[in-house]
Amino acid sequence: MAPMALMAPMANGRILPPKLVLTLTHACNLRCPYCPLVKSAGSMKLEVAQRAAELFFARHPGHGNTVKFFGGEPMLSLRIMRAILPRLRDRYVGKGLKFFVSTNATLLNRSAVRFLQRYPEIETAVSGVLEPRTVLSLPNFHVNIPIPPHLAHKLGEYVARLLARGIRRLNFLPAYYLRWESSQLKALERDFRVSAGLIARRRRRGEAIEVKNETNWAPTPLYNHGMVVGPEGDIYPCNLVFAEHFSHLRSRLRLGNVLESDSIDWSRADDVRYDALIRDALPRDVYRSTYAVDRHLTRFVEALA
Ligand code: SF4
Repeated sequence: MAPMALMAPMANGRILPPKLVLTLTHACNLRCPYCPLVKSAGSMKLEVAQRAAELFFARHPGHGNTVKFFGGEPMLSLRIMRAILPRLRDRYVGKGLKFFVSTNATLLNRSAVRFLQRYPEIETAVSGVLEPRTVLSLPNFHVNIPIPPHLAHKLGEYVARLLARGIRRLNFLPAYYLRWESSQLKALERDFRVSAGLIARRRRRGEAIEVKNETNWAPTPLYNHGMVVGPEGDIYPCNLVFAEHFSHLRSRLRLGNVLESDSIDWSRADDVRYDALIRDALPRDVYRSTYAVDRHLTRFVEALA
């Protein structure tokens, strides 16, 4: 799933760096109860990935672009990553191109780890650390910490365990777009405070602990903005359309298809009011929970400053 973003600065006029999000598949081998994504079989073909990259780099020929490999579980489509990554790297080398892949880590077998070790420029976002030795052998990774409402009271304990195992790059992902009870929100607030204290103490001792939430930003919580391409080549300005609550927005936000480049309407991405779309799509209490969770995350980030 996607890395965290804060909701509050929606109107502050920031410009997001160009990002290509290749949604390699909507399939996943897990069924996390808090997962917002609509799952389906099938995966992106190499032709689609290649065409998407060509279109993206034609529109963004400069430096500092990011390519993200997403799912579902993108490791189910490792074959496509293996095929497209060397081509992108060789063609755009020297342009500060960054790669990310977000994985639940359950499919990180020896061959997948070897692949990631060969490409240290890929930052791997790992959700859950089932096998710390495997994860620690990756050259460039951070740990995503999903926080479902019923486990918010365990967050501090979990963060302490990760830090004790030598993990130094973290990204906090409280479950958005769900109903949170007030006791769960209180637990989240308390355990964010505990976690901030743990991190601050280690930083004072000179340990370099990176919290991705301190630098990540997007106009919607959780989802990625940029040139988002689905497995069949359809282009959207944001991957929230792949979530259950927002899937009815697909036809409204679809810009076109990478295989029919003449008919892509890029201007449809302009002036989309995500705050209004989210408010209209969510039940009232879920919307309120989403704001409350985001407020707690924002305070946590502020406490780290
Ligand atoms: S691993 Fe990610 S995509 Fe798969 S079910 Fe869990 S949250 Fe959803």
